[in-house]
Amino acid sequence: MLPKATDRFGEFGGRYVPETLIPALDELEFAFDAAMSDPDFVRTYADLLRDYVGRPSPLSDAPRLSERVGAKVYLKREDLNHTGAHKINNALGQALLAMRMGKRRIIAETGAGQHGVAAATACARFGLECVVYMGETDMERQELNVFRMRLMGATVVPVSSGTRTLKDATTEAIRDWVTNVETTHYIIGSVVGPAPYPRMVRDLQSVIGREAREQMLARTGGLPTAVVACVGGGSNAMGIFHAFVDDAAVRLVGVEAAGEGLNTEHHSASLSRGRPGVLHGALSYLLQDKNGQVHPAHSISAGLDYPGVGPEHSFLHDSKRAEYAAVTDSAALEAFGVLSRLEGVIPALETSHAVAWLLDSVGTWSPSDKVLLCVSGRGDKDVAQVRAMQGNAR
Ligand SMILES: *Cc1c(COP(=O)(O)O)cnc(C)c1O
Repeated sequence: MLPKATDRFGEFGGRYVPETLIPALDELEFAFDAAMSDPDFVRTYADLLRDYVGRPSPLSDAPRLSERVGAKVYLKREDLNHTGAHKINNALGQALLAMRMGKRRIIAETGAGQHGVAAATACARFGLECVVYMGETDMERQELNVFRMRLMGATVVPVSSGTRTLKDATTEAIRDWVTNVETTHYIIGSVVGPAPYPRMVRDLQSVIGREAREQMLARTGGLPTAVVACVGGGSNAMGIFHAFVDDAAVRLVGVEAAGEGLNTEHHSASLSRGRPGVLHGALSYLLQDKNGQVHPAHSISAGLDYPGVGPEHSFLHDSKRAEYAAVTDSAALEAFGVLSRLEGVIPALETSHAVAWLLDSVGTWSPSDKVLLCVSGRGDKDVAQVRAMQGNAR
């Protein structure tokens, strides 16, 4: 089968996988495209998003944050979704698709545990077998999410290779898929991996931006000046960006994790500090050493702790349609507290990176500017970690 134009975003993306997976990726791409043009599938998915996830997620104005920033800030509240983050949008869509393909065994990788929880949730809802690969380091950092997944009937498999984080969990999940591809669907949690995953996950997350665009028009009579989102693999960012990509006047800002600083070895800023390379089946910006080996990522937030990034972000970066910045662990930690105090919204540490960028942008706006910020998830999963760190600092 000839590769489709949609397999790549400019030069990025593609399918760098073992030959045994190509038929499965072809099958998946065909099934996804057929499903999305089947009114029954589209309606079933939309009903689930409404009745199970609680969509549309609200658009909240943020008066006290707006005053601080010097522009009108609007929060797209993915933290209010069932399970507390945007990941459920994708997990439910892919679980529905798996059933349509006759596959009742689901595997997934997880970093923060949020995608694992979303996958376990979708599998519980549909009675599917669920196996989640998770790095041992992440299992320690996010032990409550491990409990949640097991509570919902998933098997969580500890991964002890490499840095014992998301990259290694993904590698293990791919290994499982190669072996069990006949019976198993692999739900990738972000806009990464071989084609068609980056496009499929983007399309399943694009409900965020479609809703937000309508909500902004209805609320303010116009489009936002800028749309801001944190970038790990990049799914909440692509989900909210997609509806605005063709609106050339709308600034798109992705915020990566600068960890302990961009000039240290300890960050996750693939676009700011990486170069193109292949990881997990796609060509994209990647943290690598002199020899092209993957350089371990670091972030205070498990969900951003990934050395790669979705290929469409690499394309938007090189074509300059979107801008990418990076903020440090300590700036994100500060922003975690600021949004909590100013708006009564405790953001995920991942989201806190986008908030930190916004706090740093004071003085660059005119008062009529409108900034749409994606609150990708709630911070309840992070409060114990943050409390422990603040305790240590005292
Ligand atoms: C997983 C996660 C992220 C990072 O993933 P993306 O694919 O970059 O969106 C961001 N925020 C939250 C709350 C997450 O759980």
